[in-house]
Amino acid sequence: MNGANASRILPDNMDCCQTVLLHIALCFATMTDMIQRNSGFSRLAAGYLFPEVARRSREYVASHPDACLISLGIGNTTEPLTPHISNAMADYARALGTAEGYSGYGDEQGLPALRAKIAETFYSGMADADEVFISDGAKCDIARIQTLFGSGVHVAVQDPAYPVYVDGSVLVGAAGEARDGTYSGITYLPCTPQNSFFPDLTAVPDNSIIYFCSPNNPTGYASTKDELQQLVNFANEHGCIVVFDAAYAQFIRTSGLPKTIFEIAGARTCAVEINSFSKPAGFTGVRLGWSVVPKTLLYADGTPVIKDWARVMTTLFNGASNIAQAGGLAALDSEGLAEMKKTIDYYLENVRLIHAALEGSNFKACGTEIYSTGNSPYVWARFPGFTSWSIFDKILDECRVVTTPGSGFGAAGESFVRFSAFGHHSAVQEACERLALLKL
Ligand SMILES: *Cc1c(COP(=O)(O)O)cnc(C)c1O
Repeated sequence: MNGANASRILPDNMDCCQTVLLHIALCFATMTDMIQRNSGFSRLAAGYLFPEVARRSREYVASHPDACLISLGIGNTTEPLTPHISNAMADYARALGTAEGYSGYGDEQGLPALRAKIAETFYSGMADADEVFISDGAKCDIARIQTLFGSGVHVAVQDPAYPVYVDGSVLVGAAGEARDGTYSGITYLPCTPQNSFFPDLTAVPDNSIIYFCSPNNPTGYASTKDELQQLVNFANEHGCIVVFDAAYAQFIRTSGLPKTIFEIAGARTCAVEINSFSKPAGFTGVRLGWSVVPKTLLYADGTPVIKDWARVMTTLFNGASNIAQAGGLAALDSEGLAEMKKTIDYYLENVRLIHAALEGSNFKACGTEIYSTGNSPYVWARFPGFTSWSIFDKILDECRVVTTPGSGFGAAGESFVRFSAFGHHSAVQEACERLALLKL
């Protein structure tokens, strides 16, 4: 619209009265001419969870300038990339500055060598290299995948869940009106201690997109093979597609728990998987992820979903950074895999520290319930008698430790708090000492 620009090009010799009249005219023009806001944005209820956590933390620091906060809040990695990975990226970047080493656009679906390496490392016998698509991260893939199904699709999510499944669905118009923090048109599947964090699927309408995350953020629960078989059977019987978020698969330490949905019989006709180097390899800032879309997954009219996904990746995306992909290749060779395991073990040690702190006598006295299975970087704990935000504020105020209120992940997260184990050991140890002093 020309309104905003016009006010910047007022001639110097225009008098004050003319200026006012022009502004009034522009104002009317603005009111009548501007395009409508995407109603998805106005529908989005409260702000995104993590900015609110950041706001409360900032306000606390502003009013307590001496407080040194420790964050066990946002799930952001803290440990440096290993030299093996960072050198691979540095070498690649340097080579880009040479005639022989330079490359421009690559295949939009990703470096063939990386697609092959991911297929071989994580999906041997379950998915082929040409079913693997490299991306700039799992969150971006979750956003893009919603363009496949349009605004008419029904959506089901675990409750609590990673906020992007719901918020992204709202933005593409797949959700109805908001009421009390939930949306009509979305089926929420409570995952609570009462059902051992595996939902009752019978409420899911036919032909739904089911977002399912295991190991789960925020509960940390890693579903068993039997449970995922139930999910896959349900999806196949009811014409649903499961969008399986396996961002924490490499944190699984209990043997026998599935690390990919494609370990489950029947998954190739009802599921796609989204995954990422962010959490296991510390690529949160580097940005690298992947999706797996089996050729055998079809729409109602028989069109393979992979056909449209290839289209999305070439049309709405132009390929992941070649430097990041060089880092991904290094992360998946034998040295990289060994280092990745070490980094994950480091975070899982933090999980043990936090879990032990929450077993302290002060927590026991108030009946704190701790749910962590050691298969994810999160400790999910319930504080009877508190709302999530009230215990969040209390821990912030008395311990100067930032957590994440469980209710921010869904109504079934009320009265829970999520402790993230991403942090340096020394900081986590200090946070645990402070938690021991919390008066409940
Ligand atoms: C962190 C996280 C992601 C985001 O991963 P990126 O690859 O960094 O975009 C996706 N899903 C879940 C469940 C996460 O916790």
